[in-house]
Amino acid sequence: MTTNTFFFDRDGIVNTRIMGGYVTDVDDFVFMPDFFALFRAVKERGFLAVLVTNQQGIGKGLMTEEDVSAIHEKMQRELRANTGFVFDDVYVAGEIDVSNYKECCGELCLPDNYVRRKPSPAMLLEAQERWNIDLSRSWMIGDSISDAEAGRAAGVKTILIGDYGSGTIPAADYIFPTLRAATETIVQML
Ligand SMILES: [Mg+2]
Repeated sequence: MTTNTFFFDRDGIVNTRIMGGYVTDVDDFVFMPDFFALFRAVKERGFLAVLVTNQQGIGKGLMTEEDVSAIHEKMQRELRANTGFVFDDVYVAGEIDVSNYKECCGELCLPDNYVRRKPSPAMLLEAQERWNIDLSRSWMIGDSISDAEAGRAAGVKTILIGDYGSGTIPAADYIFPTLRAATETIVQML
């Protein structure tokens, strides 16, 4: 028995992004107005819903894993209240972006465990192992190219949300300017 899954990026899809900053407190977490409709439609069609989020504010010491857990508990409560569903699983990569590491000794100082942050597919593959996910029948939605890249590397269909102009993004199967514009089409494709 395999599971069809919808992987969701968090900031910019589930909740509004804080430009140049991080959601470090539960009060900073504000749902995107059009997220509930998409989430409900995905769950009503029997998909597993998995959150895969980069939160390098942890690695920078701006928040703790406990802060993020508290934010996600609030997120799940409000999701249940508004849609009747919650995320089935949540994966967080707290590592700092590679571009924030300084070179030393002629090499990049990467920690040994630098493997999970998107565009790595690591979090999707962790979920695949746990839930026996059929990646070929699964989807990834996000607002960063790295989300599409992670999804493409994992072998799922990819949806990119945002102002990406008329050019194509190689890793993205579908591009929509807004979540609202995407939802009707996505629901028809599921
Ligand atoms: Mg995002």
